[in-house]
Amino acid sequence: MSQRTLVLLKPDTVRRGLVGEVLGRFEAKGLTIVAMDLRTIDGEMADQHYAEHVDKAFYPPLRDFVTSGPMVALVLEGDEAIEVVRALNGATDGRKAAPGTIRGDLSLSNRENLVHGSDSDESASREIKIWFPDLP
Ligand code: ADP
Ligand code: MG
Repeated sequence: MSQRTLVLLKPDTVRRGLVGEVLGRFEAKGLTIVAMDLRTIDGEMADQHYAEHVDKAFYPPLRDFVTSGPMVALVLEGDEAIEVVRALNGATDGRKAAPGTIRGDLSLSNRENLVHGSDSDESASREIKIWFPDLP
């Protein structure tokens, strides 16, 4: 079933010059870019995006990180896009993520792990509305 998912190339991806490398993996997989924007967000936007995490211990440094520079926000579309993107991203902790995944190949951090992908249909709808409210 075709789905849409919200993907972020986090500030470490942009700073490290890995936008082409990471975006290329999603494109090579066959996913379609339906929206794309380079954006630096403020803390309020971070709180909205990470609503489920705002009370966790790891959140304050995560908030600083995701507001530290521009991110590439994307909506990707394709068959089972939500699960496919999360499989390409790999496990949250780059140190433990499997080789072959974006995080497993390119990140050595639990926080600076390059990418975000929505984790369910509900999250995808919620996040796409936050980032691209005008997307039909
Ligand atoms: P995912 O991005 O894989 O869905 P989570 O939703 O659990 O992971 O966490 C959101 C983001 O918060 C992670 O991608 C990572 O940047 C950061 N994070 C999660 N857990 C930790 C942790 N224990 N220490 C530091 N940062 C974390
Ligand atoms: Mg998550």
